[in-house]
Amino acid sequence: MTAEEVLDGTREIPAPEEAVRELAHPVPISLSPSSMGTFTSCPLAFRFGYIERLPEPPSAPASKGTLVHLALQHLMWRPAEERTLEAALADLTRAAAEVAAHPEFAHLDLTDEEREKFHSDADVLVRRYFEMEDPRTVRVLGVELRVSAETTAGVKIRGIIDRLELDENDELVVTDYKSGSAPSEGWEQKSMAGVHIYSLLCERMFGRRPARVQLLYLSKPERIITAPSDQSLRGVDVKTNAVMQAVRQACKRDDFRPRPSALCNYCSFQEFCPEFDGQPALARPTLLARQADREGRPQLPLVFA
Ligand code: SF4
Repeated sequence: MTAEEVLDGTREIPAPEEAVRELAHPVPISLSPSSMGTFTSCPLAFRFGYIERLPEPPSAPASKGTLVHLALQHLMWRPAEERTLEAALADLTRAAAEVAAHPEFAHLDLTDEEREKFHSDADVLVRRYFEMEDPRTVRVLGVELRVSAETTAGVKIRGIIDRLELDENDELVVTDYKSGSAPSEGWEQKSMAGVHIYSLLCERMFGRRPARVQLLYLSKPERIITAPSDQSLRGVDVKTNAVMQAVRQACKRDDFRPRPSALCNYCSFQEFCPEFDGQPALARPTLLARQADREGRPQLPLVFA
């Protein structure tokens, strides 16, 4: 249906349900910093992960990040004067016990040696955190804050702020912990793209723009700081609207093309990607079957002999 057909009355504007049926894929109701980053990097990976919601196998680096985030979350809930390295390591032990039964951890296929390294690496990340700041000086307002807001075009954005705090001038500061490697020189501002979204969410939800947004790269350790501005927030708004528009078009046309890059090395869907001679249609049945297998569940449909 063309715009002209609607305007000259030769076709009626479809009811919302009819409009949805015309789409090859359902449009996600919201975007997040990570989903926007994935769509921008590779539309096909976005389709697998955020439209089809295909289960990805647990990965040690991602699970390690989850574990360290939880430990630092526990640390920040302590009274300021108790936030010592010893307390943080105790919080890491507590976090490891809490997540042990979760499928993200229970289904990690690690040898004893790999498991030992997993935990010693997490220990190192927590120690490195202390090289960047003294947590006793952090005036925490909240951790793991689920935030959502709408852009000027009504696109819903959701995210989780790792830590929101007040600085020495009582201004808001948004902090994001990163357990992966720090960006190479020249890529720092690109790595801040997601964090600027948190500035927008913070301003819309709490009515105050943060004075600072910082990424704490635990592995290096390195702190990257930026100050949000009218321009950066306007940029986030415009970019989010543009990404949602592109997502809608892709859903309508079933046009999610692979975009190979260095990220392919970390992509869970590589074996189903045409760039690697894979067949996208096999992704859903294969990944669902593997998930059922990991969880010891029968696969549907059941076939009886
Ligand atoms: S392997 Fe690369 S090109 Fe293929 S889906 Fe993954 S990120 Fe995209």
